[in-house]
Amino acid sequence: MIGRMPAYRLLIAAFVVLTAAGVACRNAGSAQPDLNAGTFLTNANDTLLRLGIESSQAGWVQNTYITPDTEAMSARASEAYMTAATNFSKQATQYDAATVSDVERRQLTVLKSALTMAAPADPKEAAELAQLVASMEGMYGRGKFCQDGESGEACLDIEEITEILANDRNPARLREVWEGWHSIAPPMKQNYARFVELSNKGARELGFADTGAMWRSKYDMPADAFSRELDRLWGQLQPLYLSLHAYVRAKLRDRYGDQVPSDGPIPAHLLGNLWAQDWSNVYDVVGPPGGAKTISLTDVLRTRKITPVEMTRFGERFFTSLGFEPLPPTFWERSLFVNPRDREVVCHASAWNINSVDDLRFKMCIDQTEEDFTTIHHELGHNFYSRAYAMQPPIFRDSANDGFHEAIGDTIALSVTPEYLGKAGLVENAPPESADVGLLLRTALQRLAFLPFGLVVDSWRWQVFSGQVPPDQYNRVWWDLRERYQGVRPASVRGEEYFDPGAKYHIPANTPYARYFLASVLQFQFHRALTKAAGCTAALHRCSIYGNGEAGKRLKATLEMGASRPWPDALEALTGQREMDASAMADYYAPLKTWLDEQNKGRPVGW
Ligand SMILES: [Zn+2]
Repeated sequence: MIGRMPAYRLLIAAFVVLTAAGVACRNAGSAQPDLNAGTFLTNANDTLLRLGIESSQAGWVQNTYITPDTEAMSARASEAYMTAATNFSKQATQYDAATVSDVERRQLTVLKSALTMAAPADPKEAAELAQLVASMEGMYGRGKFCQDGESGEACLDIEEITEILANDRNPARLREVWEGWHSIAPPMKQNYARFVELSNKGARELGFADTGAMWRSKYDMPADAFSRELDRLWGQLQPLYLSLHAYVRAKLRDRYGDQVPSDGPIPAHLLGNLWAQDWSNVYDVVGPPGGAKTISLTDVLRTRKITPVEMTRFGERFFTSLGFEPLPPTFWERSLFVNPRDREVVCHASAWNINSVDDLRFKMCIDQTEEDFTTIHHELGHNFYSRAYAMQPPIFRDSANDGFHEAIGDTIALSVTPEYLGKAGLVENAPPESADVGLLLRTALQRLAFLPFGLVVDSWRWQVFSGQVPPDQYNRVWWDLRERYQGVRPASVRGEEYFDPGAKYHIPANTPYARYFLASVLQFQFHRALTKAAGCTAALHRCSIYGNGEAGKRLKATLEMGASRPWPDALEALTGQREMDASAMADYYAPLKTWLDEQNKGRPVGW
């Protein structure tokens, strides 16, 4: 679910990165000094709500009925929205010194920090910037690996390459497709360097030191304090990561021999994923002997012929068991649950709130699998969040910070435990505790292995935006960071003729990435607090908040705040803590850490 472009966030900046073309010509940003803040904000709220609804409607039709026409209509609607959002952001700076109420000040702050890219005032430069981002996204979207003499259908696209990295166990083939995918990026490098110059210019016009500083300003704390905050959180989890890394490295060495060093970084192409950000695909290689003896929910869903709509009903019952209102009838009439046979749709799961109040929908091509069962709970988390903050003014209809929206859905997914499946009537007996290590290892390969990559992407970008890393050091610093944080290295020497950061979607698409790290940390902090409120005294990974009104009340209070308060207030309402705290994730995986350290006896740890 990481990397998903959340469709529920039509308001504010999420769309700015998608359709940068509109920044160009209507970049008015003109001052309206005679307008008082209240009038300005009323206009901003009304306009963004109206354009957001139009953009949602067009986007929904385009996603569920792909044709050139629906694509054009959707692009027009999101361009209109994005242009307005950009202008309001710029105009909000006019009120920096004005005397306004607390609520108005908060709305102005949220508006100002909403942009992920600020176009320079010079229309020519603004147009060039929009063009650069569109062309980099196009290069990424069209990216293919063509072997000698191949063209068209014979070339491998990202889905096929992903498939090979997940399932193929021939290291030569893995290296070949890994290098093949990274060959799409060098043509972007020059564009990226120019994009950095121009977007920094825009950010400086808004009063930020550079684009990276603008991104870090969204977190209700000084930009530098935010980077230190990330380092602090990582420090809480690094020992756990080192244990996992040492264990996985040894298992890969058993499989691949000397290609994997006994005490150095792991070759990045052997971890089952293009960016080594999710290692769950190599569970078959690194899992405990005999595999985890766990129930197969997939088998249960198939044998009992539980339909996609019924699977979704299970998700809804999770939320109503916490005290949330059932989903409106229109959710069941208007959502897309299966891949239709008669037309093209975007199958990538997403959650929507079309009218920004209660026209909730989701869109997913549901298979009867355990993975999709979990994803349903995750997506419904977005839906219930967006309905909970619908009574806020439109500018506040968003999560407390950008880590919260993803974290809420995943918090619920953490409560989809074997015990919950028992209570929900899906399995007869929950598996014994002896199966826990297998279960924990499987999720750690996904959630824990992700963390250092979640830091690398923006650590690199912040240094690039600040000018600390010039273009002739782009690739070296990228791999320095990946080695330092993740403990991985490339299969071969990667000089400055390559542009390996560009082979990750969020770089050409200019989507901030720290939010995914935050979401990973926050979901465990939420889970620990809610299960405690629910009175669960078992190990964290065995606790579920299903059916607990007390946990539900806390969750609801937080969701209803939306973005109306600085995020520490929302965090406190949910957890009683005002600081993010990664110790909950360490607690959750404590039994796994004990097991890993046992396995690692006599092995080198670290690199
Ligand atoms: Zn999501």
